[in-house]
Order: sequence, then C-alpha cells, then structure tokens
Amino acid sequence: MRILVVEDEAKLARAIKKALELQKYAVDLAEDGQEALDVALSEAPDLILLDAMLPKKDGFRVCRELRQAGLHSPILMLTAKGQIQDKIAGLDAGADDYMVKPFSFEELFARIRALLRRLGQDKDPVLRVADLELNPQT
Ligand code: CA
Repeated sequence: MRILVVEDEAKLARAIKKALELQKYAVDLAEDGQEALDVALSEAPDLILLDAMLPKKDGFRVCRELRQAGLHSPILMLTAKGQIQDKIAGLDAGADDYMVKPFSFEELFARIRALLRRLGQDKDPVLRVADLELNPQT
C-alpha cells in the first residue's frame, strides 16, 4: 500500500513518514499543493494524507482538483483547524475523512486502516488466476 503524505511542516512530514513506514506502508512526500497534485495524478497512491493549509494551493483546492481529475483514492485531511466549517469544507471538497491536529498516531493508523478496508470492499471480489475464477461471495 502506497500513501502520499502532503504536509509543508518538514518536521511533522518526516515524523508521519517514519511512523507510516514502521506500519509497512510505502510513503511519498509532497510539501505543497501543486506538488501534491502532480504526485497524486502520476502515482495514483492508495491513500492521500492531505494537510489543509499548504503553500501554492490549499488542501481543499487540491482535494477538489483531484476529484475533478477523476482520482478516487481515499483522502484523509489533516488540519490544525477544528472549526465545523472547515470540516464541512473538507468533506464537501471530496475528502473521505478528517483529523484535527494534534492527533495521535494510533488514531491516524486506525482511520487509515478503515479507509483502506473500505477501498478493498469496493473492488471486484472475484479472484482470478489464469483461466480460473473464484468468487468468495458465492
Ligand atoms: Ca500546513
């Protein structure tokens, strides 16, 4: 599983990257909104952790542009703001979940697992190897 972490505070970005790598995720970093768009659209990560306040383009705009571009990867927004309006703006922009800083890594991991689980369930359940097919649901 590959996660794109978009965070302009270098120290926090490194801490998140390290923590996620310990959980066996592959991690790419982007430090502003434009880089986030470029990396997300070229790499199509399994999940995007997206800070709301970013240089060049803020997270809400990045989120909207990714959805407009047809990217369906789950987006978990991170922000220092805890205002209801910001949560609504993030979700309306196409984010799947929202966490307010400071957050605990344990909760972050749990939310990431939940989003990735949902992703797995949306996929075609039929397993195929060569000309063999197995549908675990039937
Ligand atoms: Ca920020």
